[in-house]
Amino acid sequence: MYDIIIIGGGTAGCVLASRLSSRTKIRILVIETGPETRDLEHTTLPSGAAFLHDGIPRYNCAIRGVGSVTVINTGGRIRGDKQDYDEWARVHGYDGLIHNAAISSSGRHFPLRGMVRRAWKDLGMKWKADGNDGSPLLMLHTPPSNGVEVPKSTLVSRVLLEIDESGNKRAAGVECADGMKFLPSPGGEAILAADAYRTPQVLLLSGIGDAAELGKHGIKQEVNLPEKLRRPERGLALGSPLFNDPAYIKGGPGDWLITMLVLISGLKSAIAKDKGTAPEQLDSHPLVQGPQSHIELGMLYAAVGSQQTSLDIPLDGTAIMAFSIGFLPTSRGSIALKSTNPEDAPSIDPNYYATETDRYVAREEWRYEVDGMETDEEVDKRMGIGGITTYHPAGSASMGKVVDANLRVKRVDGLRIVDASGIPMPLVAHYQIAVYAIAEQAADIILKAREKI
Ligand SMILES: Cc1cc2nc3c(=O)[nH]c(=O)nc-3n(C[C@H](O)[C@H](O)[C@H](O)COP(=O)(O)OP(=O)(O)OC[C@H]3O[C@@H](n4cnc5c(N)ncnc54)[C@H](O)[C@@H]3O)c2cc1C
Repeated sequence: MYDIIIIGGGTAGCVLASRLSSRTKIRILVIETGPETRDLEHTTLPSGAAFLHDGIPRYNCAIRGVGSVTVINTGGRIRGDKQDYDEWARVHGYDGLIHNAAISSSGRHFPLRGMVRRAWKDLGMKWKADGNDGSPLLMLHTPPSNGVEVPKSTLVSRVLLEIDESGNKRAAGVECADGMKFLPSPGGEAILAADAYRTPQVLLLSGIGDAAELGKHGIKQEVNLPEKLRRPERGLALGSPLFNDPAYIKGGPGDWLITMLVLISGLKSAIAKDKGTAPEQLDSHPLVQGPQSHIELGMLYAAVGSQQTSLDIPLDGTAIMAFSIGFLPTSRGSIALKSTNPEDAPSIDPNYYATETDRYVAREEWRYEVDGMETDEEVDKRMGIGGITTYHPAGSASMGKVVDANLRVKRVDGLRIVDASGIPMPLVAHYQIAVYAIAEQAADIILKAREKI
């Protein structure tokens, strides 16, 4: 029996296990479906991840294994806008500090760095030495930054539920695809940290979710929970053959970003179209209040991810990549079960580009990066062809809807969600840091709750 059973040894799962084990003597189990990742091929190349699965470049690729995507992601770092976290704290409670070195600290020389920085400066962008001071707007420097059992290659299929003495549903254990069961000690808990796609899948396979959705697969509803949400994001890559230096082979080669507002009058009109209201009625809408960073524009000294869009651009410094990301999308997707087989990926409908607000922001991004005369329709068409995910799914079991402010799954005792699924609203951030912060906070919450046992 274990005091804490963590499902998923990824970003949140590993941090949570580490923090708990360093602060208290409890039995912790981390069940990870993937292998140890230290010696995996392709984890030291910026886009090697695209080839991780079977040697064939994969769109929308991620990795299963200890540490999860942190071993292959590009390490883009914006921990977020103070406004977003303050709003999160206002609605759900809690605040506090996030703990947090730049690619330039590696000593690598990037010949185009100064030239492109000067170009942005000429356009009026001011240099900001600390992009992580809680207000990520302008040109940001992005500084880098026992007792736990970890069964690997073990897939959790569901959380077992029982009715406790007060008549409440309670997590009584965790069942794996091979039939193995792990049970919590009295007062122990199960923690879902399987990411924004797989956490909702495990919830559904456990009978926690919408009755109609569960009924389609013959799963008995144990706990009614509302619709799952997923936040979509897009990036767009444009290659440009310019320089050649094999030093770029390793690491996510980029060390500054631009984050910007879009024109508020245009944004208001777009939101008004979506909402069927007059633009004048939108002065207090969160997206128009600010200053708020709607878009991120940047450059990497390599065409990272090119393989995913069928372009074979070598990562040898002969190409750079400009990209843009919409930070605060209003389109919402959904996650459903494809089958009752836990090995099957869930069915994911990202529903990208579904609102006029998102289309307006994306067109603005495009026009900052490309000196063209395209009509809105032409930009939309290009986005349809070249827009790719930037791998920041979140909010699929969000705080307020599925979990409470203490990360407890509503109407189930002994079960929490600690991963990107719980992020309640889009953040002006790259989510790895936000997930670290959630895991840090979760350790505080769990230890405080255990004081009462
Ligand atoms: C390719 C890529 C690039 C990215 N680039 C950046 C970036 O540059 N900067 C940034 O800040 N963010 C980036 N992100 C986003 C960031 O890495 C994620 O938001 C964050 O790591 C999510 O953490 P998590 O704990 O929610 O999930 P994960 O870290 O994905 O952890 C989930 C873990 O659970 C395991 N698991 C899943 N299902 C089960 C199951 N049923 N049983 C047992 N184990 C299970 C998985 O194998 C995985 O190890 C990137 C993401 C990807 C995919």
